[in-house]
Amino acid sequence: MTETANPYLAHLESKTHKSGPKLSQTEIEAGPTNIYNGRPFSPKYYEILAKRQALPVFARRDEFLSQLHSSQFIILVGETGSGKTTQIPQFLVHELQPKGKMIGCTQPRRVAAMSVSRRVAEEMDVEYGQEVGYSIRFEDFTSPKTVLKYMTDGMLLREAMADPTLSKYSAIVLDEAHERTVATDILMGLMKQVAQKRPDLKIVVMSATLDAQKFQKYFEGAPLLMVSGRTFNVDIFYTPEPEKDYLEAAVRTALHIHLEEEPGDVLLFLTGEEEIEEACLRIRKEASQFGRDVPELRVVPLYSSLPPYMQQRIFEAAPPPRRPGDPPGRKIVVSTNIAETSLTIDGIVYVIDPGFSKQKVYNPRVRVESLLVSPISKASAQQRSGRAGRTRAGKCFRLYPERVFHRDLQEQTYPEILRCNLGAVVLELKKLGIDDLVHFDFMDPPAPETLMRALELLNYLGALDDEGDLTQIGRRMGEFPLDPQLSKMLIASADYGCSNEMLTIVSMLSVQNCFVRPRDKQKAADDAKRNFAHSDGDHLTLLNVFHAYKQDGEGNQDWCHKNFLNPRALKSADDVRTQLQRIMERLKISLVSPKFGTVAYYTQIRQALVLGFFMQVAHLERSGTYLTVKDNQIVRIHPSSVLDSTPEWVLYNEYVLTTQNFIRTVSSVRPEWLLEMAPHYYDLDRFPACDAKRALEAIKIRTAKEKYLAEKRRKL
Ligand code: ADP
Ligand code: MG
Repeated sequence: MTETANPYLAHLESKTHKSGPKLSQTEIEAGPTNIYNGRPFSPKYYEILAKRQALPVFARRDEFLSQLHSSQFIILVGETGSGKTTQIPQFLVHELQPKGKMIGCTQPRRVAAMSVSRRVAEEMDVEYGQEVGYSIRFEDFTSPKTVLKYMTDGMLLREAMADPTLSKYSAIVLDEAHERTVATDILMGLMKQVAQKRPDLKIVVMSATLDAQKFQKYFEGAPLLMVSGRTFNVDIFYTPEPEKDYLEAAVRTALHIHLEEEPGDVLLFLTGEEEIEEACLRIRKEASQFGRDVPELRVVPLYSSLPPYMQQRIFEAAPPPRRPGDPPGRKIVVSTNIAETSLTIDGIVYVIDPGFSKQKVYNPRVRVESLLVSPISKASAQQRSGRAGRTRAGKCFRLYPERVFHRDLQEQTYPEILRCNLGAVVLELKKLGIDDLVHFDFMDPPAPETLMRALELLNYLGALDDEGDLTQIGRRMGEFPLDPQLSKMLIASADYGCSNEMLTIVSMLSVQNCFVRPRDKQKAADDAKRNFAHSDGDHLTLLNVFHAYKQDGEGNQDWCHKNFLNPRALKSADDVRTQLQRIMERLKISLVSPKFGTVAYYTQIRQALVLGFFMQVAHLERSGTYLTVKDNQIVRIHPSSVLDSTPEWVLYNEYVLTTQNFIRTVSSVRPEWLLEMAPHYYDLDRFPACDAKRALEAIKIRTAKEKYLAEKRRKL
């Protein structure tokens, strides 16, 4: 390629063109033009370019490109922050995009896809959402002009279902492969198949730390490019004994650092939104009492449900000194695992690691999947401490004893495929045309019992026939980016005359919790929630909330605030609803409502819930506890439920494992519905003995008797 053919590329390679923050207007105008808009690059472009050129990955560009031309697969391992995610896809754009196809780069986390794409749009000096954009579930921020698309791994998998050879792409980057999410694992296997049909497609597998040999073996001799970053020494401190309350210990440590340590920003790892907001609140409160002799402290949260403009705040600089000559202020980022490898925040010198993260666990025997706060692995702990040594020597405070690190933490986090429910994945694989799951080329094959459970679930839902082949309805279910129970419920609700309402309920179930319950206003929040409550349970309550929102609350922050509702969650639910509606229309599923104001209105909707969730039902035993049907697990209704009675039969959306087993988002159902609508599951000849079985048997006999009598009456 000549310099004139691709001035953008020429620019990167040219030693004569300057870069840096201080370029004059004349120099800028004399420089190359942006091929995407024909204008000279902006001053900001040059400012970032200088930073980019200093990234370790940048120095290895030629090597990368030469491997690219000689091999279809490349494995790239590089220190976090070395420039993999932002630079490699751009190299591919410059090198391959003249072919007119896109570059796709997957991320396990949606926040990473959003944040990195924004940054890269700036780096390329193009409009965000045009040449560079992102695609995550329920949100496509790309355009027909898009040449580089960041997306969640799950989204690429869905694209592959519609376009099995990924014909729109000239290269796929599977980033953060060390995270070993189910979607990335499946994509790796899938890429090996697609590569054979598409010899022109390039595949780059990237990761922070990983078992490079395992990956090389899996990709049969693909070349490995190792990029080492510049890291500084990190001193590690342990606590002498385990902390009883890691949140409290974390807050204390953060404040201690602020008071005692040299300037430098702090990164604190916690497990989820609630904990993070709580910690931010406590740190801010304590710090507000320090007085003006202590430098200013800015506390910034980071978790996935945070709106994008708030996510951006982690990149803002620490506050300036209070007075000239004073030490500068400090920034504390309180983050989930996302800051472990997915996002690099410059300026971090101190890391606080309580040693926990939320992880999925699945027990196939009782079919329970839950997100549990669990100890991290040694590899994670090392990644976390590494975040402190990016700009200069740093410190990492591990809030657990050294012996715990050496003795109790496992080496690596287990791949997700070994610890999650595979219902949705198996449906996707089937839809991808992969029928022989047992012989699919998994890097780590899932447990046979887990696969069995997934096949069983899909068979009960009618998505797979008894041979394990995809049915007509299974194919339609696969069109929805939803768990199989939800998609089944949605599709089948049309036959129950309530697909409009179900569309709303499914959307509300697909977004974050819409109820806000601040610690200091719990009673007011509970009272507000009661205004929406439906006596039959949480599903109908969600429906009420959405209706009220559409009537009074849309675009009305005050209304949401007054009612303790999260406007972002409701807005997302509305967006999700629009998208799901489009899929319904495309599949020609009718959108119908029962007559409002009749008794049947709510009954029909509750019945339709059974169509998807008949396997998630609990029965109130004579002992006064709920047992899950068939699996006989003792559960309690989550305190957040609006149910104030204890119906004999309840259907639940989610099983939550904490110190106790809770079922969350619960509605009362009638046992007759279970027998009638899911006879294959409620086959009493194949039912473990329990109160639930006896109750169902009694109902069966009663119903048969009633039917008989009615028949007799009719004949008379
Ligand atoms: P890697 O993928 O190897 O971990 P990245 O490509 O994500 O590295 O990051 C390279 C550099 O780009 C880092 O120094 C990081 O701080 C910077 N960077 C990435 N995203 C942003 C952003 N949104 N704002 C500012 N800097 C960013
Ligand atoms: Mg990265």
